[in-house]
Amino acid sequence: MIILLKHDAEPLESAALLRYLDQQGIATFAATAYGQTLIRLQPGMSADIRQRINDFGSVAATLDKPEDYVLVSRAFRPSNSWFHVGGVPVGKPDVFNIMAGPCSVENEEMIYQTAEYLSRLGVKFLRGGAYKPRTSPYSFQGLGKDGLKLIRSAADAYGMRVVTEVIDTSLIDEITPYADILQVGSRNMQNYHFLKELGKSNKPILLKRGMFSRVEEWLMAAEYIVSNGNEKVILCERGIRSFDTILRNTMDISAIALVKELSHLPVLGDPSHGTGRADLVGPLSRACAAVGADGLLLEVHPQPCSALSDGKQSLSLEEFARLMQTLEPVVNIMHRQQDTQLHAASIKK
Ligand code: PEP
Ligand code: MN
Repeated sequence: MIILLKHDAEPLESAALLRYLDQQGIATFAATAYGQTLIRLQPGMSADIRQRINDFGSVAATLDKPEDYVLVSRAFRPSNSWFHVGGVPVGKPDVFNIMAGPCSVENEEMIYQTAEYLSRLGVKFLRGGAYKPRTSPYSFQGLGKDGLKLIRSAADAYGMRVVTEVIDTSLIDEITPYADILQVGSRNMQNYHFLKELGKSNKPILLKRGMFSRVEEWLMAAEYIVSNGNEKVILCERGIRSFDTILRNTMDISAIALVKELSHLPVLGDPSHGTGRADLVGPLSRACAAVGADGLLLEVHPQPCSALSDGKQSLSLEEFARLMQTLEPVVNIMHRQQDTQLHAASIKK
């Protein structure tokens, strides 16, 4: 059972309810998000206690059969959630976010060259992995801490924000000072202990969909983060495994439109991993924009054919520049503006 407290619940009243539950020996888990508190109770309460709970003035509703996700649902919060990251709005309904960069940070020259080029096009978020979750233990594993330092300094040199992946709980503290957004990879989406720890982080979390995960499992993963204290979650559809192996993954475009209905959280599309092929990244990027995505996460490399990871799906710098042009009319028809076009004055200090 779940109790939802009123938005304007007095702290004293809420404390009285928690005290009452404690006195009755009922274990509780309380989470506050978007200004409202939710209390989860152990099952098997007597009818008397249930009745008594409803008498507390702070109680807005009791849910006997709660949905598996509550806080991230559109029913809980009808308006879109958005927030600033380094002054740039993410998830704002009239903005389309572009986050781009190499799969992995490989060396100083390539990350600086990428940051310089992208920043000239107005890109405000530089992505790049320093710790890479590779399928083979013999593949390039990333530069680790050196990679973090490089992406941070390249981003700072060109006024950009850093999106980088955290692959394990033990690395959260190391990566946090270098990142503006912490990425949770597809392989970690169901690592619930890790998600709970990220709930304690003060950095926004970009949560990729697990490659074998249903939409509802993805939303429950987001619920783990939000219910543990971190409201700033960005969902990212990156393709799923299906019966068809012709592409690396099956980009689930319908999931983007669906999740925009089911949840108030921002949703990005990642057509690089979604298709595995650079020539399909353009069409699928436009498709993501057309179905209502809040932005894109794109892999870009100065020399895709010599990339140490995911070269086949990476756009060259020039291909990326062309994509920004062909994307724009689709973004505009959805009543949005690419954040690459946001002027310095509209970026919050
Ligand atoms: C990545 O963004 O480079 C990555 C490893 O993504 P995913 O977790 O979606 O495979
Ligand atoms: Mn990659």
